[in-house]
Amino acid sequence: MDIEYQLVKRTEKVQLPEKLEFGRLFTDHMFIMEYTPEKGWHNAKITKYEPFNISLASIVLHYGQTIFEGLKAYKRPDGKIGIFRPEKNFERLNNSARRMCMPEVDIDFVLKALYELIKIERDWIPDHPGTSLYIRPLMFGNDPFLGVRPSDTYIFTIILSPVGAYYKEGFKPVKILATDKYVRAVRKGLGECKTAANYAASLLAFKEAQQQGFSQVLWLDAIEQKYIEEVGTMNLFVQIGEEITTAPLMGTILPGITRMSVIELLKHWKLNIQERRVSIDEVVEAYKNGSLKDVFGTGTAAVISSVGILKYKDIEMTINNNQPGEIALKLYDEITGIQYGTKPDIFNWVKIIE
Ligand SMILES: *Cc1c(COP(=O)(O)O)cnc(C)c1O
Repeated sequence: MDIEYQLVKRTEKVQLPEKLEFGRLFTDHMFIMEYTPEKGWHNAKITKYEPFNISLASIVLHYGQTIFEGLKAYKRPDGKIGIFRPEKNFERLNNSARRMCMPEVDIDFVLKALYELIKIERDWIPDHPGTSLYIRPLMFGNDPFLGVRPSDTYIFTIILSPVGAYYKEGFKPVKILATDKYVRAVRKGLGECKTAANYAASLLAFKEAQQQGFSQVLWLDAIEQKYIEEVGTMNLFVQIGEEITTAPLMGTILPGITRMSVIELLKHWKLNIQERRVSIDEVVEAYKNGSLKDVFGTGTAAVISSVGILKYKDIEMTINNNQPGEIALKLYDEITGIQYGTKPDIFNWVKIIE
């Protein structure tokens, strides 16, 4: 399939604001293509980013048949652009698509479309330390029909948003609240898909946690509310003694690409990393006996987010004196170094665009 180009004529140079908020500013162009059962994916174009018309009866608005991805492009010291493990995001998108009865995309084709789009929008990639261009692929069912069934027609798009540094005042630990009041995803449900329903399910818990002064919710497993799973849009790692653990992929958590990269790095460093279920009681126990060393989240937005305070019921645990742990810091430096091209990319994670 060819990509049609309908490029916007710019008279002035792109001027990025001093302060970049996450996800509010979008670039000039987007990639978009359509799907019908007869034609498959077709009508691929890179065109002006602007509001898009859909019917108010569109299936996505009523029944949430939609999936998305999130990844980043970085400006490198030599002016080239790096994208972190983009093929993994489209593999995951296709996994989400299968679970949501949506058509898969051709990974090589959408990667090519993404690289073309990024090249066109290269002036939108900020170059201050910690800044990047956030990439949001999105697919949704678009039949104008009120019955509950998978849509026949789909839209796939990629939009881009320049984002500021996640850590403006240095690597600062966050406060999170383990909740047993709500659940996010149950086994055999949608937990491993980046699909709207999971985020809809999380909103009230998030709001209540924020009202209590926490930045995120730590989800416990939905059946027993006993085992720790993940945080908001991050996977969670807990270091007890010398062992670093993270929840196994059993269908309830999002299989993060940062999570995968952290596991690969920890193994490479010959550290003891285990994918196993850890109960919140085990964490509390470790806190009480002094063996809880480090707790951190992993995800594209922050890369590594150190947890300084973790509250469960009426126990408020201060981790590592509310300072980032040694391993969290080391992982942050290593992964961001690879992403920005200041450290050797020994695993070949970064796709470079000239
Ligand atoms: C996106 C996401 C993550 C992190 O995935 P990355 O690929 O590392 O960005 C973790 N949990 C949830 C619920 C997410 O939506």
